[in-house]
Amino acid sequence: MELSKEDGLAGILRKAGFRATKPRLLVLAHLQKTRYPLCIREIIEGIGRKNADQVTVYRILDSFKKAGVAVQVDFQQGRAYYELKDAKYDHHHIVCTDCDKVEDFTGCEYEKIAGKALKQTHGFAKVTSHSVELFGLCNACAR
Ligand SMILES: [Zn+2]
Ligand SMILES: [Zn+2]
Repeated sequence: MELSKEDGLAGILRKAGFRATKPRLLVLAHLQKTRYPLCIREIIEGIGRKNADQVTVYRILDSFKKAGVAVQVDFQQGRAYYELKDAKYDHHHIVCTDCDKVEDFTGCEYEKIAGKALKQTHGFAKVTSHSVELFGLCNACAR
């Protein structure tokens, strides 16, 4: 069973044009398992420090981002978070500015905003991606 799962991950890497190296497989498996935006430190802790150093993990994430395998999420906390890109599930995050609690939401209707942006500006032909994060207070912190 473990083997077929690894095959699946290797397939994702090959499709995106990567060789299925062990560090890449580990990072991909960890992102797939957690399904939650993780910072580089959390990813390294998740896959084990002996398996990949910070520079390697950073390079892997950057290449995943460029290839559309992962997305970078900005929680405005001074560090980048990454999660697997899911084309069928366009979702965004709402973040508690006090305790960093994160939840997903869907239905951002970015097509409407993209249409407005293209109408209001003059130098852009199309919108190819979008990024929406909301910030607020969770129930516990709002009390
Ligand atoms: Zn909170
Ligand atoms: Zn969206």
